[in-house]
Amino acid sequence: MNAIDEKLQPILAEVTRRNAGEPEFHQAVHEVLESLGRVVAKHPQYLDLALIERICEPERQIIFRIPWVDDKGRVQINRGFRVQFNSALGPYKGGMRFHPSVNVGIIKFLGFEQTFKNALTGMPIGGGKGGSDFDPKGKSDGEIMRFCQSLMTELHRHLGEQTDVPAGDIGVGGREIGYMFGQYKRLNNKYEAGVFTGKALAYGGSRARTEATGYGNTYFVQAMLATKGTSFDGKTVVVSGSGNVATYTIEKVQSFGGKVVACSDSSGYVLDEAGIDLALLKEIKDVRRERISEYARRRGAGVHFIPADRGSVWDVACDVAMPSATQNELSGKDARALVKNGVIAVGEGANMPCTPEAVRIFQEAGVLFAPGKAANAGGVATSALEMQQNASRDSWTFDQTEARLATIMRGIHDTCAATAEEYGAPGDYVLGANIAGFVRVAEAMRMLGVI
Ligand code: GLU
Repeated sequence: MNAIDEKLQPILAEVTRRNAGEPEFHQAVHEVLESLGRVVAKHPQYLDLALIERICEPERQIIFRIPWVDDKGRVQINRGFRVQFNSALGPYKGGMRFHPSVNVGIIKFLGFEQTFKNALTGMPIGGGKGGSDFDPKGKSDGEIMRFCQSLMTELHRHLGEQTDVPAGDIGVGGREIGYMFGQYKRLNNKYEAGVFTGKALAYGGSRARTEATGYGNTYFVQAMLATKGTSFDGKTVVVSGSGNVATYTIEKVQSFGGKVVACSDSSGYVLDEAGIDLALLKEIKDVRRERISEYARRRGAGVHFIPADRGSVWDVACDVAMPSATQNELSGKDARALVKNGVIAVGEGANMPCTPEAVRIFQEAGVLFAPGKAANAGGVATSALEMQQNASRDSWTFDQTEARLATIMRGIHDTCAATAEEYGAPGDYVLGANIAGFVRVAEAMRMLGVI
């Protein structure tokens, strides 16, 4: 990791002490603090007002028991979380993650990142995140529904369209959002559509929300490539993951003339030199919920499945890498392999997928690097557009919504680039995103008094 300005070191020490055993949260705070030395040199009042300390401490953290009954009639217990991180700019906003690795530190890191990401979108949304250590893998539809209902029986009292607005994340898609919103509606006896985003079109969802994170990352990388006078056309691209973010990244990259030759899941990756067949991938992952090896089997000769213990998707040579699976999935070793193979741009579709060492390697090698809090902000930005449509009881066309998304992503790109330039680090999108996101939240908090 890079050095932190000495004035900020006590802040990191205190965050580490107060949040013991939460390495992902420490990592996310460390990465932002690395960028803030230049900000406090210019605006010392941020230190006097303890704004950084306040931003690192969530406004509220809710941890609760989720009891539910499985298909065999046995009682199961999971733990639920909602970290309401910062509401200076608007209601808490951020997804719910269902994955066995979920703990309070992971939700806190995600909520912290979300606060700056949401600020970068320019929309009136604060930052929050939630989830559970529930593992959706192998669960029946009935089990998923009973789990979602039990979770919401507790969480509903903490939500509201003006208070806290969840959405999806890993393990939470349209089906889970439907079950959670259904239970919320029942408990509140109100049709409060704007309390959830990522809803299906049938009951108040927005067109282009499903596609938005992957499309948005592709727009961001397109803008970075344009600063070097180039584009996706004819480029070889590797996308990790095969969920919602990866799927719609592949779709958009292909529409811009790029060739995506590999994607993955936790069991391994597939290498398809002819270019990923998106219709087949969607059928296997989205409809049938099968493992990715099935893609190689169905596609036939020339397409390989490489299990996770025999190699990394980042061993595949490419011009552009778009990590879209999960945190810390791309290591320093992976970054060195990508640089050796000539990668020119990296766009983080997932939250914090590159380790600090990997980010340093890309930046030192002059690779265009887009951090997740900027590059993957298209999902939450379109969530804010969904809230806007719900509030006005309107429904926009796909083209209208996608056009707004594209404008927002170009705006985020330009803000990050201009901020990096202003603070003496042209081309450093990490610094630009951290400073631009932080200043927007800090300025609002300063105006609101000691809150
Ligand atoms: N989970 C997504 C993210 O990491 C989307 C959040 C939302 O739409 O509220 O930004």
